[in-house]
Amino acid sequence: MKIAVTPSRPYDWIEKQVLARLQNWGFGDLDMSRITIWTATSKEMAMYRKKDINVFNEGFCRLFPETMKVDLFVESHLTKIHFAGVLAHELLHAWNFQNLIINIPDEWSEGMCNLSSYLTYKSIDFPLARIYEENMMKDPDPIYGDGFRMVLDFYNRYGWDGIRQHIQQYKI
Ligand SMILES: [Zn+2]
Repeated sequence: MKIAVTPSRPYDWIEKQVLARLQNWGFGDLDMSRITIWTATSKEMAMYRKKDINVFNEGFCRLFPETMKVDLFVESHLTKIHFAGVLAHELLHAWNFQNLIINIPDEWSEGMCNLSSYLTYKSIDFPLARIYEENMMKDPDPIYGDGFRMVLDFYNRYGWDGIRQHIQQYKI
């Protein structure tokens, strides 16, 4: 692990942009003082996860229930737009953890986190963001694709408030 996100780096600007969006969506109570953001290569992330290298692992959260702290990792070779999308995804995992919404089914957990990425891409006025958006809409994965589109449909009807209300049942 080489680089923590510190002020004066471009990541700092991206973090601010993503947090502003989360705030608009009603996640302003996210406690960033308990979250440390790291960038890492796929190889480093696999090491921390103690799993085989998977280049599709773009980010993950390591949760510490004893201290309620979160180490959040984002793959270090992503474009800035992709980085923003992955950060938006992982920060919602952190929000669920901080709110003790832990017994949440994967399609809701990954689905709502992917919705956060999707809406982040949608809010960025740049052609590359359209491609990331389209890729998410086409993702055949039952959790990250179908789960995401199920949550997107729910969002279109009930908004983020509806989603937050729905997932309260998974609070421990
Ligand atoms: Zn996830």
